[in-house]
Amino acid sequence: MYSLTEHMPRDVEDFYPEEVCYFDLEGISFAQISQIDTYPDAESLAKVSDLFYDEALRLRDKYKLQIKLPIGFESEWIRPSTLPLIHNLREKFSFDFFVGSVHHVHAIPIDFDRKMYEEARNQAGGTDEKLFQDYFDTQYDMLQKLKPPIVGHFDLVRMLSDDGNRSFKQWEGVWSGLLRNLKFIANYRGVLEINSAAFRKGLSEPYPQVEICKVCQLHFKTHSFVLIAAGIFETWRPFLLVR
Ligand SMILES: [Zn+2]
Repeated sequence: MYSLTEHMPRDVEDFYPEEVCYFDLEGISFAQISQIDTYPDAESLAKVSDLFYDEALRLRDKYKLQIKLPIGFESEWIRPSTLPLIHNLREKFSFDFFVGSVHHVHAIPIDFDRKMYEEARNQAGGTDEKLFQDYFDTQYDMLQKLKPPIVGHFDLVRMLSDDGNRSFKQWEGVWSGLLRNLKFIANYRGVLEINSAAFRKGLSEPYPQVEICKVCQLHFKTHSFVLIAAGIFETWRPFLLVR
């Protein structure tokens, strides 16, 4: 089994810098060479979902004898207007599942670049500890509203922090917020994604890091993990050690 997912659309105010389509004085749009995925408006970005879904259906049908191909999307959790966007998407397409994740704290991306990370951190009170707390509170809000079947990159917030390999246990408030979220996920029988993208970013463990997976194993009796991702062996190595 394999699966296909695409990020949900966002409003213009939440476009990433690389997605913004700039206009010159004559009103002619242009994009810098590196900015190949630009969109003039939210509708244009939303059309990506249409194209994705059509192509995913085509592939699912084409390879139906060889593989199971569930089709899903990854949600955002940015501001109150995100929720209707998610509802609209789920009404428009019949997805098999979706991934609930958090990329923004105080409506600022925390994984795009260090500058934005620091903006979010300032909004949170100026320290990694405070931003981490706010991240897990934002995630808890998302979990309560959506109960996503899969929770994506559970501890993404550490990616651009001062020390992305640090233990969460050093901060009591962060650790208790994280445990609260894990308990909530376990109660509705959600699944944590193990995501190897952390290695590409120079971190030594996947999302979520091993100490969090140990909690899942010890307290929530999680015994198996399902993963398909680049760097699969690197991702699995820490879990083999845990066992
Ligand atoms: Zn994501």
